[in-house]
Amino acid sequence: MIKVLVSSCLLGSPVRWDGGDKKSDHPILQRWLEEGRLVSVCPEMLGGLPTPRPPSEIVAGTRRVTTPSGADVTAEFERGAEASAAQARANAVRVAILKEGSPSCGSTWIYDGTFSRSRLPGEGVTAALLRSMGLAVFSEEQLEAAAAYVAELEGA
Ligand code: SF4
Repeated sequence: MIKVLVSSCLLGSPVRWDGGDKKSDHPILQRWLEEGRLVSVCPEMLGGLPTPRPPSEIVAGTRRVTTPSGADVTAEFERGAEASAAQARANAVRVAILKEGSPSCGSTWIYDGTFSRSRLPGEGVTAALLRSMGLAVFSEEQLEAAAAYVAELEGA
């Protein structure tokens, strides 16, 4: 069975910066959960950040991650990405479903680093690392495509 890495907040864990979650009730995620296919990770918590915590954004055009007060949390984000990658390796994961827009988990867009809700095409620190390892990374908005890819990998 192909295992799927998934952002913990999509499964209802209260791990977001504001202490909340982003639980998805999508039937594909529910089915995968019942099948025991999911490996749940929150890169920011794995990187040692607390919940709740200040919001963070990637400074546009750089690899730096900062909070609104200018605190540099790049090291924590990188540590969390490495820990997530280790989980992926340990479970032979080839597919990930990550929360869109996050500076860790975003896979097609992220905020622009000005904390003004402006978006840029791009990816979060963990999404980028997983892709560099050859994983197929999808957002929670692309679950049908992800399921089709998993079925293809399994030869269905
Ligand atoms: Fe969710 Fe990823 Fe943010 Fe953790 S780091 S709260 S898993 S989007």
